[in-house]
Amino acid sequence: METLIKTRTLPKELRLLRLLAARMALPEKDHKRYVNLEKGYEGEILFDARAEVLAKDRLILNDLLLETNNTSFQMDSAFISQGTISLYEVKNYEGEYLYDPESDKFTSQYANNITNPLHQADRCDILLRQLLHSKGYNVPIVYKVIFINLEFTLYLPKPHKSIILPTQVNPYIRRLAATPAKLTPNDKKLANLLVSLHKEDDPYPRLPSYDFSQLKKGVGCCSCLSLDVIVNDRYCICLKCGRKEGLDEAVLRSVEEFRLLFPHIKITTNVVYEWCGGGIHKRKINRVLREKYTMAGYGRYSFYV
Ligand SMILES: [Zn+2]
Repeated sequence: METLIKTRTLPKELRLLRLLAARMALPEKDHKRYVNLEKGYEGEILFDARAEVLAKDRLILNDLLLETNNTSFQMDSAFISQGTISLYEVKNYEGEYLYDPESDKFTSQYANNITNPLHQADRCDILLRQLLHSKGYNVPIVYKVIFINLEFTLYLPKPHKSIILPTQVNPYIRRLAATPAKLTPNDKKLANLLVSLHKEDDPYPRLPSYDFSQLKKGVGCCSCLSLDVIVNDRYCICLKCGRKEGLDEAVLRSVEEFRLLFPHIKITTNVVYEWCGGGIHKRKINRVLREKYTMAGYGRYSFYV
């Protein structure tokens, strides 16, 4: 049985911010958010790789966006087995932090106003309970905050039941893997319910404002996104990382990137020509567009969908 029920994909917001960062100077707060999203995603991927061994007898749901009573919440990772949901809030923090259970605060000399990850996990737990309750389920939920980065140190007066430190991640997973779990039909039902409730994120309102004329044009590298790419008749070659990509693929990818950034602008040969920096023959662009997309409209008013 396939137990990885929902896989993790690059979040749309991160994808958009990567594209924007390559083509404009992001305002400071957006740049900060971009760096944090990048770091968070890297941490989640690290956790997924470690947790893979558990997939044989647990249902794994990654990156679910749910909503209850008009409040959205995101679950980094959730495992379901034997009627219990385990929630994991994955943090890729680096450096030295202090947690004081008395004041219930996380502090660090490097950063101010750190959201307490325990509160985040707790909020998730409460909202998920509420949501499941409204669907007629009463399921035990446990949660852990996983600190995945090996260069993270947390000063704690004593061990905390919901905190897994970097050096404890492997032993924790080994312990889980050694505990036999049996999937029940109800587990599967619950997993399917959660997946059916997943909402697609709409990141556009959170993005900085940008328009076509303001963004740098050119074919971005398919690997490092750099615009420092030379284009010849058949290939695009990145001067930064050396990656080589077929020209047709590069054009199609550029169109997809353009569409993601500008969902409301019609795709025409001229638009794609300009977007790609003017270095690719219009005839070539036209051919690629015609092969992959459907033409709508007529003559000079035609565009591709
Ligand atoms: Zn590159």
